[in-house]
Amino acid sequence: NFDFSDRVGRVEPSATLAISNLASELEAQGEDVVDLSVGAPDFPTPDNITQAAKDALDAGHTSYTSSNGIPELKDAIAAKLRGNGVDAEADEVIVTPGGKQALFETFQTLVDDGDEVVLLDPAWVSYEAMVKLAGGTLSRVDLAQHDFRLEPALDELAETVSDETKLLVVNSPSNPTGGVFSDAALEGVRDLAVEHDFAVISDEIYERIVYDGFEHTSLGSLDGMEDRTITINGFSKAFSMTGWRLGYLHAPSDLIAQAGKLHSHSVSCAVNFVQHAGVEALSERTDDDVEEMRQAFEARRDMLVDLLAEHDVDVAVPKGAFYMMLPVDDDDQAWCEGAIQDAKVATVPGSAFNAPGYARISYAASEERLREAVERLAEHDYI
Ligand code: PLP
Repeated sequence: NFDFSDRVGRVEPSATLAISNLASELEAQGEDVVDLSVGAPDFPTPDNITQAAKDALDAGHTSYTSSNGIPELKDAIAAKLRGNGVDAEADEVIVTPGGKQALFETFQTLVDDGDEVVLLDPAWVSYEAMVKLAGGTLSRVDLAQHDFRLEPALDELAETVSDETKLLVVNSPSNPTGGVFSDAALEGVRDLAVEHDFAVISDEIYERIVYDGFEHTSLGSLDGMEDRTITINGFSKAFSMTGWRLGYLHAPSDLIAQAGKLHSHSVSCAVNFVQHAGVEALSERTDDDVEEMRQAFEARRDMLVDLLAEHDVDVAVPKGAFYMMLPVDDDDQAWCEGAIQDAKVATVPGSAFNAPGYARISYAASEERLREAVERLAEHDYI
C-alpha cells in the first residue's frame, strides 16, 4: 500500500496503449488484426545508419558521453537547424533519448504550478500529461472545426492567450491530424507570442514527412522568435528509428543551462553509439532513403483518401506526417472498440487527442493492409 504522489495521480496511462493491448490480445487468440494505431514508420532503419552504430560499437563508443551529447552530433544538429534558418550553435542543443524526453525536460524547465500552457487541439496525447506532471494548467484552442488548420483559428487563439500565458505548443506537421500550418499561421503565432511575451515549443518531429511539394518552415526561423522558441526534433520518424531513442531540443543558452541540470540528473546522456549513428543519419547519405519513405507515405495517403471517398467518407486531406482523422460516431471510443472487435481494424479514439467524434488512422502500413482495413470497415458498416 504505497502512498503515491499527487503528481502521478494527475495523469492517465496512454490511450494508444489500451488499443494496442487489445490488438495484441486478439492476435494472441489467432485473429488477423490490421493495426493502424501505431505511430511508427514500417520501414527498416536505413543501412548506413545501422552500419554507423555497428562501427561505433566496434570502436568502443560504449561509455557515458558528455551530458548534452557528443560534439559531432551537436555540431551536425546545429548545422541542420541553420539549414532551416534557425540561428543555432552546438552549445544550444541537448541530445536526448527521444524527442519525448526533450519535451519532458522543456516542460519541467519552464512550467511551474498554475502556469498556463496553451495547446492546439487535436493535440498529441503526451503534451497534456507532461503539462499536468509539471503542474501547469491547460487552455485549448480547437482546430477540428477548421479542418485542423491554424490560420482560420488565429482569432480564437488571440482570444485565448494573454499576458498570463507562459507557453504555447505548436506541432506541425501534426500528430494526430496530419495538418501542416501555413507560414501565415506561424506568423500569427509569432505576433501573439511577441505581443504577450510567451515562449513557444515547436515540435517539428514530422518535418521531413510533408506532401504536395510543401517546404517545412521552422518557427524559430521567424523574426522575433529566436529568443522564445524551443525547437524539438528527433530521429524516430524521419529515419525510422523509433526504438533507437534519439532526439534533441534547441533553445537559447539560458534555457539549455537550466534544462541541462534536469538532463544530467535524470538520463545522464543519450546512448553513446546511437549518437554516432545520429551523425550519420543527418548526413546527405541518408537523403535518398528519407525521400523514398516520404514518397511511400504520400502514395498511401492518396490511396487512402481515394478509397475512403469511394465509401463517401470525406476526410481533411493530410499534408504531412502519416496520420489521418476519420470522422466517426460521437462516441469514438465505442466506435474504435467495435471496429477492432468486429472488423479487426485498430485505430485510436480521437478523444485521446481531445477530438471526440474522430478516429486516428496511422497509415504507416502497406498499401495492401490499408486496402484490407477499408474493406473490412465497410463490410462491418463502420464506414
Ligand atoms: N512529438 C510527437 C508529435 C510525436 O508524435 C512523437 C512520437 O510519437 C514524439 C514527439 C516523440 O517521439 P520520440 O520520443 O520517439 O522521438
